[in-house]
Amino acid sequence: MSVDFDLIVIGGGHAGVEAALAAVRMGRSTAIVTMDPERLALMSCNPAIGGIGKSQLVKEVDALGGIMGEAIDATGIQFRRLNLSRGAAVWSTRAQADRRFYNQYIVDYCKRQNKLTIVEGLAGLIMHEQDRVIGVRLEDGTPVRSRAVVVATGTFLGGLIHIGEKKIKAGRFGEPAAYRLSDSFRELGFELGRLKTGTPPRLDGDTIDWSRCELQPGEDPIPFFSYRSAYRQFEQTPCYLTSTTARTKEIIVANYRRSPIFSGQITSSGPRYCPSIEDKFFRFADKSTHHVFLEPEGNGTSEVYPNGFSTALPEDVQAEAIRTVVGLENVRITRPGYAVEYDYCPTYQIKQSLETRRLSGLFFAGQINGTSGYEEAAAQGIMAGINAVLFIEQAEPFLLDRSEAYIGVMIDDLTTRSTTEPYRMFTSRSEYRLALREDNARDRLFGYARKYGLIPDADFHAFKATQQATTETIKRFSKARVRVSELGGLADRFTKFESVTIETLLKQPNVGIPEILPHLKSVESVTSSSPEILERAAITIKYQGYIDKQAREIAQFKKLEHERIPEEFSYQVVTGLRNEAREKFARYRPGSIGQAGRIEGITPGDVAVLSVHLKRFKSAVA
Ligand SMILES: Cc1cc2nc3c(=O)[nH]c(=O)nc-3n(C[C@H](O)[C@H](O)[C@H](O)COP(=O)(O)OP(=O)(O)OC[C@H]3O[C@@H](n4cnc5c(N)ncnc54)[C@H](O)[C@@H]3O)c2cc1C
Repeated sequence: MSVDFDLIVIGGGHAGVEAALAAVRMGRSTAIVTMDPERLALMSCNPAIGGIGKSQLVKEVDALGGIMGEAIDATGIQFRRLNLSRGAAVWSTRAQADRRFYNQYIVDYCKRQNKLTIVEGLAGLIMHEQDRVIGVRLEDGTPVRSRAVVVATGTFLGGLIHIGEKKIKAGRFGEPAAYRLSDSFRELGFELGRLKTGTPPRLDGDTIDWSRCELQPGEDPIPFFSYRSAYRQFEQTPCYLTSTTARTKEIIVANYRRSPIFSGQITSSGPRYCPSIEDKFFRFADKSTHHVFLEPEGNGTSEVYPNGFSTALPEDVQAEAIRTVVGLENVRITRPGYAVEYDYCPTYQIKQSLETRRLSGLFFAGQINGTSGYEEAAAQGIMAGINAVLFIEQAEPFLLDRSEAYIGVMIDDLTTRSTTEPYRMFTSRSEYRLALREDNARDRLFGYARKYGLIPDADFHAFKATQQATTETIKRFSKARVRVSELGGLADRFTKFESVTIETLLKQPNVGIPEILPHLKSVESVTSSSPEILERAAITIKYQGYIDKQAREIAQFKKLEHERIPEEFSYQVVTGLRNEAREKFARYRPGSIGQAGRIEGITPGDVAVLSVHLKRFKSAVA
């Protein structure tokens, strides 16, 4: 087959960029077909990367060679770690980005890749021969041929923006929507659904009274995301916290009927965890005020993002309401807030590899799969890019399960449940979160990254040295003793002892690296260890009991995951199955018995019946 590129990626957003770069790293000629080549990985909404559950995805993408962590480290203006008062399982990093520099960093990086071509254009049609994708036809009629295609079109498919009663066909403010491509999917027999999301107005920071808002500084030492980023110190840009007032509520409540969310103009569901301000006052009617975080859009601009004030109310109401927020009494709106409705593809139509069931070689990633968020998109993008290359090479797909990565949790959730609202990641979605921490993403994924050629070999070997140093530090902590008389405030806990090991100290509640740091002088070679190694060692010691317990649970889980269900297995011949279970199994086509049990509405009885038939099927074909 004559092709222009091995892989075409439609859409240069967070998913598309990671997909394309993964394919390039694996040596494949790749094209990103996108509306505006200067807007690669643009942040459509808040200028921030990471957060609870999301930072784990960024670290996993990073461990698979992805760009997101490196880009935010280079262009972030404020970094913090969230949840530090809780267990290490949920520690999460979040960074405020300089929106323009982040996008520019990715554009420059992509331009430097020899095997990557950026094609400016609107993809309008998926080309195929029988049930195999062969490329994309642009809306201007140009055909571009490839062996595989990744679709990462974000909020642009059938995009419709709402501001009060106003409706505008657009994927993002000021950018066209992609209607022809939606039609192409319908013609191919895909079922499309409708979801919505929203964004707040942007503000002119020079018109904000900062003295009335609470300062939110960055953290020192700066917690970076990527294992590739060298530590650097710089002056971080502060964020601020403020809140709505009783008057804000009055204005919003009085204008409910003018919001497209309440007037019936928008019928699709939005992200429950990121509600609009009108939704917040409606759903939490007993609450009189809500927090608003004022986040700078970058260092070279005075534009500010009021996080928590997403709205689709008419512009006059937005202006009146925002000027009742503390410190924003004289604020000027630079761009209005809006809601956008878009088409997505319900995910029973994709396999765990993110390949569609309908057309082989066609992969979906990001918002098109019903997710919301840059990190969720990037994580799917990298998986789709890797799997598209493996498809081209006729190799087994790369699948991660729920015990290996948040990426595995997300894809498993997507392929076993229907999406009724935009899906976003939280640590609470993972039952094995103690095993899926930020600090051990490379322990979990670097082996795969090396296998698929996603990272330089030197990085892999350097990490082996880090693992070795961690093990040695743990050993030293178990032997090195500190005199109780030298323990200061901690001495009360050990009155019966003369000395205790560092390990014993670390196992105490509220004792971590900062508390043991003064006592490390005497521990051979440890004082020179990097903060990363000290933290890895401390976490392992502190949570060892729980980590071991989780490892046993994971071993149980793996048994069911390893009972694979072949693609060709027919549910029609399984006697004794409830009709609902038969329909669900046929719809979601689980990859394993474990996955079958997680499909919504499936009972243990259904799984037992399926198991018996699967064993019979396997022995018949053996
Ligand atoms: C108004 C708004 C508010 C949002 N609010 C939130 C929020 O509160 N929280 C949150 O987590 N996330 C939010 N998001 C979502 C977040 O922006 C997305 O989840 C994320 O950007 C999705 O990444 P993606 O790669 O799938 O798509 P995008 O980043 O949207 O990128 C899609 C890319 O595809 C290109 N494209 C689309 N169709 C075509 C075509 N036919 N031909 C060529 N190119 C095409 C576009 O030009 C764009 O470059 C919001 C998005 C918007 C628009």
